[in-house]
Amino acid sequence: MTESTQEKQVYYYPNNMGRIILLSLEEVIGRNGINAILNLANLHHLINNIPPNTYDLGFRFNDLGRIHQALDTMYGPRAGRGLALRAGRACFKHGLREFGSILGVSDLAFRLLPMKMKITVGIEAFADLFNNYSDQVVWVEEKSDMIYWHSERCPACWGRTTDSPCCHLSVGLLQESLFWVSGGKNFMIEEVNCIAQGDSSCTINVTRQPLD
Ligand SMILES: [Zn+2]
Repeated sequence: MTESTQEKQVYYYPNNMGRIILLSLEEVIGRNGINAILNLANLHHLINNIPPNTYDLGFRFNDLGRIHQALDTMYGPRAGRGLALRAGRACFKHGLREFGSILGVSDLAFRLLPMKMKITVGIEAFADLFNNYSDQVVWVEEKSDMIYWHSERCPACWGRTTDSPCCHLSVGLLQESLFWVSGGKNFMIEEVNCIAQGDSSCTINVTRQPLD
Protein backbone atom coordinates (compact mmCIF):
# COMPACT_ATOMS: atom_id res chain seq x y z
CA MET A 1 0.00 0.00 0.00
CA THR A 2 1.44 3.38 -0.94
CA GLU A 3 1.68 6.31 1.40
CA SER A 4 -1.07 8.21 -0.37
CA THR A 5 -3.45 5.24 -0.03
CA GLN A 6 -2.57 5.00 3.64
CA GLU A 7 -3.48 8.62 4.20
CA LYS A 8 -7.05 7.94 3.11
CA GLN A 9 -7.51 4.94 5.40
CA VAL A 10 -8.24 5.25 9.08
CA TYR A 11 -7.41 2.24 11.21
CA TYR A 12 -7.31 1.92 14.96
CA TYR A 13 -5.83 0.28 17.99
CA PRO A 14 -8.17 0.05 20.98
CA ASN A 15 -7.73 2.86 23.49
CA ASN A 16 -6.11 0.57 26.03
CA MET A 17 -3.32 -0.33 23.57
CA GLY A 18 -2.75 3.34 22.79
CA ARG A 19 -2.69 4.00 26.52
CA ILE A 20 -0.06 1.31 27.07
CA ILE A 21 2.11 2.69 24.26
CA LEU A 22 2.02 6.24 25.65
CA LEU A 23 2.63 5.11 29.24
CA SER A 24 5.55 2.97 28.08
CA LEU A 25 7.03 5.80 26.07
CA GLU A 26 6.67 8.10 29.05
CA GLU A 27 8.53 5.54 31.15
CA VAL A 28 11.45 5.73 28.72
CA ILE A 29 11.65 9.44 27.85
CA GLY A 30 9.82 11.08 30.77
CA ARG A 31 6.80 13.34 30.90
CA ASN A 32 8.59 16.28 29.26
CA GLY A 33 9.96 14.02 26.56
CA ILE A 34 6.59 12.62 25.63
CA ASN A 35 4.97 16.03 25.64
CA ALA A 36 7.67 17.29 23.27
CA ILE A 37 7.18 14.25 21.01
CA LEU A 38 3.39 14.70 20.91
CA ASN A 39 3.87 18.36 20.18
CA LEU A 40 6.31 17.64 17.35
CA ALA A 41 3.97 14.97 15.96
CA ASN A 42 1.16 17.51 15.99
CA LEU A 43 -0.89 15.35 18.37
CA HIS A 44 -1.84 18.03 20.85
CA HIS A 45 -5.05 16.27 21.80
CA LEU A 46 -3.00 13.52 23.47
CA ILE A 47 -0.84 15.80 25.60
CA ASN A 48 -1.67 15.13 29.27
CA ASN A 49 -4.70 13.29 27.95
CA ILE A 50 -3.85 9.67 27.29
CA PRO A 51 -6.57 7.35 25.96
CA PRO A 52 -8.86 5.71 28.54
CA ASN A 53 -8.54 2.09 29.55
CA THR A 54 -11.23 0.77 27.20
CA TYR A 55 -11.44 -1.56 24.23
CA ASP A 56 -13.04 1.08 22.01
CA LEU A 57 -11.11 1.55 18.78
CA GLY A 58 -9.91 5.11 19.38
CA PHE A 59 -6.15 5.26 18.85
CA ARG A 60 -5.28 5.87 15.22
CA PHE A 61 -2.50 3.98 13.43
CA ASN A 62 -1.59 7.27 11.85
CA ASP A 63 -0.92 8.79 15.27
CA LEU A 64 1.45 5.96 16.15
CA GLY A 65 3.29 6.38 12.85
CA ARG A 66 3.72 10.07 13.61
CA ILE A 67 4.95 9.39 17.15
CA HIS A 68 7.49 6.94 15.79
CA GLN A 69 8.58 9.48 13.18
CA ALA A 70 8.86 12.24 15.81
CA LEU A 71 11.19 10.04 17.89
CA ASP A 72 13.58 9.80 14.94
CA THR A 73 13.31 13.51 14.19
CA MET A 74 13.88 14.62 17.76
CA TYR A 75 16.58 12.19 18.87
CA GLY A 76 18.08 11.15 15.50
CA PRO A 77 17.45 7.75 13.88
CA ARG A 78 20.00 5.85 15.99
CA ALA A 79 18.88 7.07 19.39
CA GLY A 80 15.25 7.14 18.23
CA ARG A 81 15.52 3.46 17.38
CA GLY A 82 16.95 2.61 20.81
CA LEU A 83 14.19 4.51 22.57
CA ALA A 84 11.47 2.88 20.47
CA LEU A 85 12.92 -0.58 21.22
CA ARG A 86 12.90 0.18 24.95
CA ALA A 87 9.37 1.54 24.77
CA GLY A 88 8.30 -1.61 22.92
CA ARG A 89 9.78 -3.77 25.66
CA ALA A 90 7.95 -1.71 28.29
CA CYS A 91 4.70 -2.15 26.30
CA PHE A 92 4.94 -5.89 26.81
CA LYS A 93 5.18 -5.53 30.60
CA HIS A 94 2.16 -3.23 30.75
CA GLY A 95 0.36 -5.31 28.13
CA LEU A 96 0.79 -8.51 30.09
CA ARG A 97 -1.10 -6.99 33.00
CA GLU A 98 -3.91 -5.86 30.71
CA PHE A 99 -4.14 -8.75 28.25
CA GLY A 100 -2.51 -11.66 30.09
CA SER A 101 -5.79 -13.48 30.64
CA ILE A 102 -6.92 -13.00 27.01
CA LEU A 103 -3.55 -14.30 25.83
CA GLY A 104 -3.88 -17.30 28.14
CA VAL A 105 -0.23 -17.02 29.11
CA SER A 106 -0.91 -16.85 32.82
CA ASP A 107 -2.71 -20.23 32.81
CA LEU A 108 -1.01 -23.13 34.49
CA ALA A 109 -1.38 -25.17 31.29
CA PHE A 110 0.66 -22.58 29.42
CA ARG A 111 3.32 -22.33 32.10
CA LEU A 112 3.84 -26.08 32.04
CA LEU A 113 4.57 -26.23 28.29
CA PRO A 114 8.15 -26.82 27.16
CA MET A 115 9.89 -23.62 26.05
CA LYS A 116 9.74 -24.33 22.29
CA MET A 117 6.00 -24.91 22.51
CA LYS A 118 5.51 -21.86 24.71
CA ILE A 119 7.14 -19.68 22.06
CA THR A 120 4.88 -21.05 19.33
CA VAL A 121 1.69 -20.82 21.38
CA GLY A 122 2.64 -17.42 22.83
CA ILE A 123 3.45 -15.77 19.52
CA GLU A 124 0.26 -17.13 17.90
CA ALA A 125 -1.80 -15.82 20.82
CA PHE A 126 -0.10 -12.48 20.42
CA ALA A 127 -1.00 -12.30 16.72
CA ASP A 128 -4.61 -13.28 17.56
CA LEU A 129 -4.79 -10.47 20.11
CA PHE A 130 -3.93 -7.85 17.48
CA ASN A 131 -6.13 -9.45 14.82
CA ASN A 132 -9.15 -9.74 17.13
CA TYR A 133 -8.95 -6.52 19.13
CA SER A 134 -7.40 -4.05 16.70
CA ASP A 135 -7.22 -3.23 12.99
CA GLN A 136 -3.69 -4.59 12.77
CA VAL A 137 -3.38 -7.61 10.47
CA VAL A 138 -0.70 -10.10 11.44
CA TRP A 139 0.08 -13.67 10.49
CA VAL A 140 2.75 -15.92 11.83
CA GLU A 141 4.76 -18.20 9.57
CA GLU A 142 6.44 -21.09 11.33
CA LYS A 143 9.62 -22.73 10.08
CA SER A 144 11.77 -25.26 11.91
CA ASP A 145 14.43 -22.74 12.96
CA MET A 146 12.65 -19.42 12.40
CA ILE A 147 9.38 -17.69 13.03
CA TYR A 148 8.31 -14.90 10.69
CA TRP A 149 5.97 -12.25 12.08
CA HIS A 150 4.23 -10.69 9.07
CA SER A 151 2.31 -7.51 9.76
CA GLU A 152 0.29 -6.76 6.64
CA ARG A 153 -1.40 -3.75 8.15
CA CYS A 154 1.08 -2.21 10.52
CA PRO A 155 0.43 0.68 12.90
CA ALA A 156 4.10 1.21 13.83
CA CYS A 157 5.11 2.62 10.45
CA TRP A 158 1.70 3.83 9.28
CA GLY A 159 2.04 6.74 6.83
CA ARG A 160 5.82 6.72 6.99
CA THR A 161 8.40 6.49 4.21
CA THR A 162 11.87 5.32 5.23
CA ASP A 163 14.90 3.77 3.58
CA SER A 164 15.26 1.00 6.15
CA PRO A 165 12.89 -1.04 8.33
CA CYS A 166 11.53 1.22 11.07
CA CYS A 167 9.02 -0.71 13.23
CA HIS A 168 11.31 -0.76 16.25
CA LEU A 169 8.43 -0.60 18.70
CA SER A 170 7.17 -3.94 17.36
CA VAL A 171 10.65 -5.46 17.52
CA GLY A 172 11.01 -4.38 21.17
CA LEU A 173 7.60 -5.84 21.96
CA LEU A 174 8.57 -9.20 20.47
CA GLN A 175 11.98 -9.14 22.18
CA GLU A 176 10.41 -8.70 25.58
CA SER A 177 7.64 -11.22 24.95
CA LEU A 178 10.17 -13.93 24.05
CA PHE A 179 12.38 -12.91 26.95
CA TRP A 180 9.40 -13.40 29.25
CA VAL A 181 8.13 -16.61 27.66
CA SER A 182 11.60 -18.21 27.77
CA GLY A 183 12.24 -17.24 31.37
CA GLY A 184 14.95 -14.67 30.59
CA LYS A 185 16.60 -15.63 27.31
CA ASN A 186 17.45 -13.33 24.42
CA PHE A 187 16.69 -14.12 20.79
CA MET A 188 17.84 -12.72 17.46
CA ILE A 189 14.86 -10.61 16.38
CA GLU A 190 15.19 -8.43 13.33
CA GLU A 191 12.83 -6.58 11.03
CA VAL A 192 13.78 -7.45 7.44
CA ASN A 193 10.86 -6.05 5.41
CA CYS A 194 8.91 -2.89 6.10
CA ILE A 195 5.90 -1.30 4.43
CA ALA A 196 7.51 2.11 5.02
CA GLN A 197 10.32 1.16 2.64
CA GLY A 198 7.92 -0.16 0.02
CA ASP A 199 7.56 -3.82 1.00
CA SER A 200 4.16 -5.50 1.05
CA SER A 201 4.40 -6.35 4.74
CA CYS A 202 6.48 -5.59 7.80
CA THR A 203 8.28 -8.85 8.46
CA ILE A 204 10.15 -9.52 11.67
CA ASN A 205 12.40 -12.60 11.77
CA VAL A 206 12.62 -14.42 15.07
CA THR A 207 15.32 -17.07 15.48
CA ARG A 208 13.97 -19.93 17.57
CA GLN A 209 17.28 -20.77 19.16
CA PRO A 210 18.11 -18.34 21.98
CA LEU A 211 21.40 -16.40 21.80
CA ASP A 212 22.40 -17.32 25.34
ZN1 LIG B 1 5.59 -1.50 9.96
